[in-house]
Amino acid sequence: VDVIVWFTDPVVRRRAQAARPSSAGDVFRLIREGTATTRTDVARVTGLSRTAVTLRVNQLLAQGLVVEQAEGSSTGGRPPARLAFHTAGGIVLAASVGASRAQLAVCDLAGEILAETALDVDIADGPETVLAAVVKHLEHLVSESGHGDTVRGIGVCVPGNIDVETGRSVSFPVMPGWDDVAIPPYFTRRFDVPVHVDNDVNVMALAEHRARHQDGVNDLLLVKVSTGIGAGIVSGGHLQRGALGAAGEIGHIPVAAGGGAVCRCGNVDCLEALAAGWALVRRLSESGHTVDGVRGVVDLVRAGEPEALRLVRAAGRHLGEVIAGAVNLINPAVIVLGGDLARAYDPLVAGVREVVYQRSTALATRDLQIVPSALGERAGVVGCAVMVLEDVLSPRSVDAALARGT
Ligand SMILES: [Zn+2]
Repeated sequence: VDVIVWFTDPVVRRRAQAARPSSAGDVFRLIREGTATTRTDVARVTGLSRTAVTLRVNQLLAQGLVVEQAEGSSTGGRPPARLAFHTAGGIVLAASVGASRAQLAVCDLAGEILAETALDVDIADGPETVLAAVVKHLEHLVSESGHGDTVRGIGVCVPGNIDVETGRSVSFPVMPGWDDVAIPPYFTRRFDVPVHVDNDVNVMALAEHRARHQDGVNDLLLVKVSTGIGAGIVSGGHLQRGALGAAGEIGHIPVAAGGGAVCRCGNVDCLEALAAGWALVRRLSESGHTVDGVRGVVDLVRAGEPEALRLVRAAGRHLGEVIAGAVNLINPAVIVLGGDLARAYDPLVAGVREVVYQRSTALATRDLQIVPSALGERAGVVGCAVMVLEDVLSPRSVDAALARGT
């Protein structure tokens, strides 16, 4: 009965027709996802006429987004030409800007890295200096790659909260000069393409999700443990930023055994004050060790220095306390531990596992995996590429580009 009502109600029918994918952008999505691999497929799925299919496919061929190849044998006549997503039909640029280092990449339209480089930066120098250096190195990387005329978009991540609609920074704790800065103009001055900006942990979560998507993982928590601590949340296959982009600030959740430790945010007993790289560097320095940043802490752990090992194990347990709460709240299938301090993986994950399996509910931990990053240091640039590709290859953006005649 439902089916009859659905087809006979004229309002519902019009809505259903309007919802049927039929623009050139929609046709591109069908080809990109492999739902349609021939013109006949496209006509069948969309209900478009042969003429309309030809028009849209020709637009996509002209855009370089699709290629058409004669393929396979046929029992008679000409075999149908195969339509495929042209991953070499352009590039996107990725810039993962950290507190002390920026990683840059040129990626194809499938998000594969074609060329990459890194440069030392000091985020305290402010956006003018840091972003000018990033853009200069990107220009160089693009010209070396030989794809300069086909840049389709740029993805950028920075270690602060971003209004993703505008690309403006909202809050950059302890980063002077970065509050309320519009980041895209630094890039559009040189590259006239869409620029997407987000927080570093969010793009890392996107990258780790994509790396595991084929295994059916749709709920993932990425915990970055580096100089600071933050989390990116993918729930139901979608990145969760919260109402104001402040979701995932787990570094400033208080822990029970905080002992009154003062955090850099001004509060006491924050997770960061006990488990972040900056806090461990301070404690090791106070007890007479020479520590060169978070990497120095990792070096001490790898050298078997007992105090460094003890501190990192304890950091893992504090981290586990906060992650246990997150596990009960959002029930992730996978927790990825990333960031520089996660390179001291064994002692860190031992503490995390101990507390998470003790404190989270039995159901939430039944199939829970706690794993290292699949992408390591590349998670930032891969995530930036994924973020910008999701937009520039969306049906809406493809249609808009066609309407502009570009
Ligand atoms: Zn804090």
